[in-house]
Amino acid sequence: ESADVVVLGAGPAGLVLGILLHAAGIDCALLERASRTHVQTRARAGFLAPNTVRILDRHGLSDGLHRDGTRHGTCEFRTQDGRFRLDYGALGQGGQHHVYPQQNLVADLLAHYLDLGGRIRFHTEALAVHDADGTRPYVTTREPDGRPARWTARYVAGCDGRHGAARRSLPPGAARHHHDHGVTWLGLLAEAPPSLDAVGYAIHERGFAGHMARTPDVTRYYLQWQRGTPAEAWTEQRIWDELDVRMRAADHGPLHRGRLLERGIFDLTCDVIEPLRHGSLLLAGDAASLLAPAAAKGANLAVLEAEILAGALTDALARGDTAGLDGYSDRCLAHIWRAQEFTGWMTRLLHADPDPARRGGGSSFRAALSRSRLASLRTSRTHQDWFAENYVGV
Ligand code: FAD
Repeated sequence: ESADVVVLGAGPAGLVLGILLHAAGIDCALLERASRTHVQTRARAGFLAPNTVRILDRHGLSDGLHRDGTRHGTCEFRTQDGRFRLDYGALGQGGQHHVYPQQNLVADLLAHYLDLGGRIRFHTEALAVHDADGTRPYVTTREPDGRPARWTARYVAGCDGRHGAARRSLPPGAARHHHDHGVTWLGLLAEAPPSLDAVGYAIHERGFAGHMARTPDVTRYYLQWQRGTPAEAWTEQRIWDELDVRMRAADHGPLHRGRLLERGIFDLTCDVIEPLRHGSLLLAGDAASLLAPAAAKGANLAVLEAEILAGALTDALARGDTAGLDGYSDRCLAHIWRAQEFTGWMTRLLHADPDPARRGGGSSFRAALSRSRLASLRTSRTHQDWFAENYVGV
């Protein structure tokens, strides 16, 4: 089979790209390893930045998030020195987040793409991209019935995430800059209403704890976690008790408890592939760069890169103008490195030393730096503006 653009992966990057290409009259096909149900029920991100919403607005893809999402512009830091709030929506450039679960956005995008008559093949796993340095690349796949197949294209868009075929098919010269923040999170989805009307960041000598609203009935929590410990090692009771301690519920009010719907382990590692274009193979989203979830940037970068890539591919295929494709990598990498830099700053701010033996009652070097950063953030309007601009920016 063939298409001018074969898009690997139907996450936010692949779907936005597919929709924009289809709307521009470009022949494209999406190949997705999982089922439709799986992709539109997989809970991950929830915080959409203003620029992401502008992109979705621009292309008529934001009805669901304006209908069911909520606006959010406050975060609260809790430390041994008390708590303070930053109304980041009123600082910096005045940008707020929209809180809208990623799976709902994916469901909306998928419905939109199918309404347009877009081609998508579920249960189709890309195995490798071949001949990317030529003008007729092809993708080998395992089709829904298990038989092997080949999809030929003029361009292949690798939007298939961190473990996808696009990354596996990079030429030997591609650089992968990898960094391990050395921290692990236990990510939790609780069937419970949010406990505070802000994103909660608790900095505690026992480790970080985070609180993020998702919907009126579901809340995300994170616990800094000992690397290597299985997600199921603690009972629900122990997890809630630990969240209480780190979020200092005794001082600042109780957490709404509920059944834990999901647990996942996240090692806070990150990487950047450089460049993002290898001949006819172009990477976008998590396939291009992986960010630690501390600053909620991944889905936002995925949407931004998809829009840039759609414009570049449309120029190339409809008008023979390849300037956009030539500049694609540099343009996206500027955004990616800025997001990585801020994510690294947030990660260092929030976490106790990953080695409990070095925490020393909150008096370790790392803890002292974090305290000093927070003191500056609490008192300096300039620092607050910088934080707000980067926190909601992509
Ligand atoms: P994905 O969403 O990973 O989609 C890739 C798709 O490709 C998948 O559907 C997959 O099934 C498919 N695929 C994989 N391999 C193949 C193959 N070989 N062949 C065919 N298909 C394949 N980001 C934010 O911006 N804000 C947040 O608040 C936030 N919170 C997060 C919380 C958690 C717990 C996690 C894990 C992530 C979070 N992120 C957040 C990051 C965000 O979810 C990702 O950056 C985003 O999903 C990237 O989109 P994508 O389209 O590039 O990749």
